Amino acid sequence: MLVVAASPAGAAEPDLAARLKLLVAAYPESLAGIEGNTLVFKDGGPPLEIDDGKAKDHQAALAAGDVEDSLRQIYPLGACEAKPAVDFDPGRIRSDALMMRLYGKSAKAVQADLVPVKWFGETLRVTKRQGAAAALEKVRDALATKPELKRYLAPSAGVFNWRKVSGAKNMSVHSFGAAIDLNTKFADYWIWSGGKPGKVPKYANKYPLEIVALFEQHGFVWGGRWYHYDTMHFEYRPDLIAIAKAAGASACR
Ligand SMILES: [Zn+2]
Repeated sequence: MLVVAASPAGAAEPDLAARLKLLVAAYPESLAGIEGNTLVFKDGGPPLEIDDGKAKDHQAALAAGDVEDSLRQIYPLGACEAKPAVDFDPGRIRSDALMMRLYGKSAKAVQADLVPVKWFGETLRVTKRQGAAAALEKVRDALATKPELKRYLAPSAGVFNWRKVSGAKNMSVHSFGAAIDLNTKFADYWIWSGGKPGKVPKYANKYPLEIVALFEQHGFVWGGRWYHYDTMHFEYRPDLIAIAKAAGASACR
């Protein structure tokens, strides 16, 4: 069921139908449209259920989110830091079933689509599916004009890693080669800071917000916007960025 997230005053929040339209438009390589309660795929494979009809609290949505759950919380944009409210984790709820249809159902399938992306003296392997590698190259080119930022960006703590989210039941977007971790030297991560489920340590961030804004401009969401914060982490979620723009959701107020 749709739980309406906190939204900036005055912005018209897109309803589920509008969010789904933006989701379909964000993945033109794979998604063909919506039919009833399903997403239809261009590969002719089975349609995917959008809403399983189960009421889920935040932990349940994180553990087993459907497509509708993944669009619940609207991500706020901009070069501003805002301490996330309790359980505000925009982007952290995902449909593993959808991600597997977009990027591959196994480590082997995902690996077949990884391509090299040069990244400040190293070479990363990033999925070419859904335009993710091309988007990361645009982020890199924009960041390369600001050499003072390089120490935050490299060495990267990695892209592809087929695994579940640490301490959780759902898949990390690193599994799909569509998430990048920056230099861990500047990282604040709720688990490394001593957090446990139900007990999240005080929020902190050491990355300049201009890095965040550049990633967002090219379709990536930042783990530093999450109550369960992970400030080195960016993942390619062009659906959520499009919904954020449509909602006028800003972190700068
Ligand atoms: Zn990460």
